[in-house]
Amino acid sequence: MVGKVAVIGGGTMGNGIAQVFATQGADVQLVDVEAAFLDRALGTIEKNLGRMVSKERITQEAADAARARITPTTSLEDTANRDLVVEAVPEKFALKRTIFETLDAVTNEACILASNTSSISITVIASVTKRADRVIGMHFMNPVPIMKLVEVIRGNDTSDATTETVVEMTKALGKVPVTAEDYPGFVSNRVLMPMINEAIFALWEGVATREAIDEIMKLGMAHPMGPLALADFIGLDVCLEIMDVLREGFGDDKYRACPLLRRKVAAGHLGRKTERGFYEY
Ligand code: NAD
Repeated sequence: MVGKVAVIGGGTMGNGIAQVFATQGADVQLVDVEAAFLDRALGTIEKNLGRMVSKERITQEAADAARARITPTTSLEDTANRDLVVEAVPEKFALKRTIFETLDAVTNEACILASNTSSISITVIASVTKRADRVIGMHFMNPVPIMKLVEVIRGNDTSDATTETVVEMTKALGKVPVTAEDYPGFVSNRVLMPMINEAIFALWEGVATREAIDEIMKLGMAHPMGPLALADFIGLDVCLEIMDVLREGFGDDKYRACPLLRRKVAAGHLGRKTERGFYEY
């Protein structure tokens, strides 16, 4: 049983996380900074639940019940009686620090605090709380309602009991938990980002066209998307930040971001969200 959950941040990831918990019967508080952001998140959830109903994956009653289980709020103090809090605010350590300090102060002692961070150290996040044994990474994949994987990341002091609880909760969501230790990029981004970066180097060095690089990886390696199209989907700024985290975290220049990636980010061509990256949208 998933119980009482709070999701902090109702953006791309947070609204999906709230939706999957609510669909599986959890009582969910969704926290964001402004009512307008909460309205937008709830609008997205309603649209996605509606799509599931039209595809006959859930009934209208189940969709209505899931929506009714989500309570929006702008106050972190409302999380006092939660069993689990999943943080999904922007990837800025200063912001996550403030949120974890506050959550540590306002939630009950047994509450598990999870972060959906893509690249910030769980050990560092845990260190700003007085409950490092109950802090863990729950790295959901985008789009959350569709993707099965949750990478569960154990910080230096995350307890076995916390890990087991989160693994069981993840299974109860119908997702597949896979655990990893807390090192830069965990497993997903440590393997994915250097591959994307290498594809960008291949483009930069004129080894092949963007279409050829993507086609080779799609047809040859059975990837659903080519690495350059995937970089545009993720956001080139996010890809660059993660490469920089890997290079800094390992102190190893093998993680050097391709100068072409750095140049596109400097120019503001960030991929799909700016309608221009390696492709035009
Ligand atoms: P986003 O910008 O779409 O959403 C962040 C939300 O947090 C926004 O609604 C914002 O208003 C809200 N927020 C900001 N400050 C807040 C505060 N103080 N209290 C409550 N809410 C606040 O970001 P996102 O893409 O959903 O990413 C969230 C986290 O998930 C990041 O750590 C990111 O690295 C990680 N992540 C993202 C993806 C992805 O593909 N987008 C995939 C995996 C993990």
